[in-house]
Amino acid sequence: MAKVDNIVVTGKSGAGKQPRIDVLVDRYGLEQLSTGNIFRSYLGAFKKLDSGLAPEKFWDEASGWFVDDSAISAELEPFCEKAGVPVDDAVLGLKAARFVDAGLFVPDRITNALFEAAFRAKGGRGLVLDGYPRTAAQAEFLLQLTQDMGTKLDLVLLVDNEDDLIVQRTVGRRICPKCGRVYHVEYKPPKDGKYCHDCGVEVIQRSDDTEEKIRTRLREFAEKTAPAIELLRKAGIPYVEVPGNLPVFTDEAVRESVLGKVEPILG
Ligand SMILES: [Zn+2]
Repeated sequence: MAKVDNIVVTGKSGAGKQPRIDVLVDRYGLEQLSTGNIFRSYLGAFKKLDSGLAPEKFWDEASGWFVDDSAISAELEPFCEKAGVPVDDAVLGLKAARFVDAGLFVPDRITNALFEAAFRAKGGRGLVLDGYPRTAAQAEFLLQLTQDMGTKLDLVLLVDNEDDLIVQRTVGRRICPKCGRVYHVEYKPPKDGKYCHDCGVEVIQRSDDTEEKIRTRLREFAEKTAPAIELLRKAGIPYVEVPGNLPVFTDEAVRESVLGKVEPILG
């Protein structure tokens, strides 16, 4: 069996990626690398400095980009030393913070830079990529990066699910604010329709789980991520689809539906 370097898991938000990622991690001894965690990690590195420095200070309005990295590093360095944070991590965190904290659209250039740093830190191997690439520009960057590092993408796995089903499932989702337990008003109702079975606390709906926000995420997938997947396929990366919805949803059923498609390709 050829050694598996990396697998890309993709799909609409709410399609059910995590159980499939768990199967791949377990079967091939991989580690999950999520864009969400990458961002949290670098943003955290910058925040940990407690430097009081605003990212905007290093933004050059004329060029529409940040000033030179060396200038940012020089100012962050004393804080990094005190906090025990690598300067490069803090610089990446500061750049990401300029967009994330202001609720601005994060440019591909930033997402790529953070991804590259995290990917290189892991040696570019043994990973399930989750939430990346999300645009064609990110997909191109990833192909170039793996080529430069002498590593590869072995497979793209798409978890397929219908829009209406995702909306229905997500809109009905409720979460216990205390223990994080997830409920659904129809399929897994909380006690008396609104209390956590474990804590008795009233469950809440996440602000991201409104129909309008879900439809926006679904539209983004169709417009931006679908072309990214297409680009990877055209580059010759093997591609499989697995259903996000199963007649019977057990660990074993998920495992079979994933490995039935993946093992013929990866062994
Ligand atoms: Zn609870």
